[in-house]
Amino acid sequence: MNKLDTTLVISALKQAGFALTDSAKEADVVLINTCSVREHAEQRVISHLGHLKHIKESRPDMVVGVIGCMAQRLGAELLEHEAVDIVCGPAQIPQITKLITQTLNQKKQTIAITEKIRRKTTQNESRALEDFESAYDVEDRQIPAQAYVRAMRGCDNFCTYCIVPYVRGPEVSRRPNAILDQIRKLADTGVRQVTLLGQRVNAYKYTSGEKTYCLADLLRMASGIEALEWIRFVTSYPSEEFFEEILHAMADLPKVCNYLHLPAQSGSDKILRAMNRHYTAEDYLRLLTKARDIVQGIAIAGDFIVGFPGETQDDFEATVDLVKKARYKNCFIFKYSPRPDTTADKRLADDVPLDVKKSRNTELLAVQEKISDELSAGFLGKEVKVLVEGLSKKPHLDSAQSDGNPQLIGRTATDYIVVFNGPKSLAGQFANVKITKTSPLTLFGWLM
Ligand code: SAM
Ligand code: SF4
Repeated sequence: MNKLDTTLVISALKQAGFALTDSAKEADVVLINTCSVREHAEQRVISHLGHLKHIKESRPDMVVGVIGCMAQRLGAELLEHEAVDIVCGPAQIPQITKLITQTLNQKKQTIAITEKIRRKTTQNESRALEDFESAYDVEDRQIPAQAYVRAMRGCDNFCTYCIVPYVRGPEVSRRPNAILDQIRKLADTGVRQVTLLGQRVNAYKYTSGEKTYCLADLLRMASGIEALEWIRFVTSYPSEEFFEEILHAMADLPKVCNYLHLPAQSGSDKILRAMNRHYTAEDYLRLLTKARDIVQGIAIAGDFIVGFPGETQDDFEATVDLVKKARYKNCFIFKYSPRPDTTADKRLADDVPLDVKKSRNTELLAVQEKISDELSAGFLGKEVKVLVEGLSKKPHLDSAQSDGNPQLIGRTATDYIVVFNGPKSLAGQFANVKITKTSPLTLFGWLM
């Protein structure tokens, strides 16, 4: 979601005549797009601001803006930081160029956030967000031929640990035609893969007259766009609602990638209840079985939080058990981080010591790594199709085998990362790679 917002802001600033620079030292304006999901992310922003304050000592005209969830959460408090000139929440990013111009011209701080974040957005605000969203037609700068498209904003789920409903506001599904027009426009400019975004994207629901559109309808309609080749969606919430329809759409539509990100968060029913997640571990595993029955070869990824308040060793072992049974392709594992004003923070003591959180995190990662390794090994000797993202950031293969070509990185439809040597010009194109070596998170091979 943040990557998309960053792309939208870059696009708006370019249209307003700004140009990007890689160095904060050279910039007239520095914007930090922020995340509030865990405390660590916010601490990093504070440390960046400290660095910028330093730069501003010799360049006092430089404008620094904090945008996104942390801006919404902390509001005016952020303006007290010596480095900060602009504070702009996620719903106000359509105003970003105006805020920058104001600050540059009037040399005074500006703030734009939503006062009452849980109220429904007004028609004017929705229109501004829609216009801003659909004006975006540039490709993602980092990854050619790929783009994110928002299907939904906000969240109404109120998982007790989560800050998102308090910084991104109520859940709203965008109009199907607005989404499709945007995808068509992106496909016309060379985008081959879109990822539909929502905090619970599988709950997408839009009623127009007699018809209610769900995610399966969006997938079907997007599949009809000829130039588009792959369609993904993240993140899904474990729920029966629309689940089978979506799985059947995945199975029937060749353009829809067979990849499902379905965070479980815990394997203990007691903890799931305390998290306000509306399923049990058994319900969750039933959904996985259904997904694997309907969509052949589907790859599934999960999220877990370890050290949630009250998590005993038995609760943690239930999580380990779930991870073993789920056989994820990969898992994102987080140490519980109390977020101000969430229900868990207000009502439950953060009673799992940090060293226990750390050791549970390490243990769960090790369990998952073994499973990922076994699943990756199944690709040895096979040929896979990847969408090439560009140059690999770190060297992986023996450069003596490179034929003078650099190392590229690509992703399969099932979200496996594949590293191979090939011409840089392949970035943004599809390629077939024969897998010759595997590791838990990466496949290696030769360009066919
Ligand atoms: N909407 C998605 C969902 O329901 O799973 C993802 C939302 S959140 C931005 C991404 C992940 O961060 C969650 O799946 C959860 O594992 C983790 N997370 C959220 N709040 C957290 C917290 N307070 N402490 C640690 N991890 C957290
Ligand atoms: Fe947060 Fe839960 Fe909403 Fe995901 S579904 S964004 S974890 S409240």
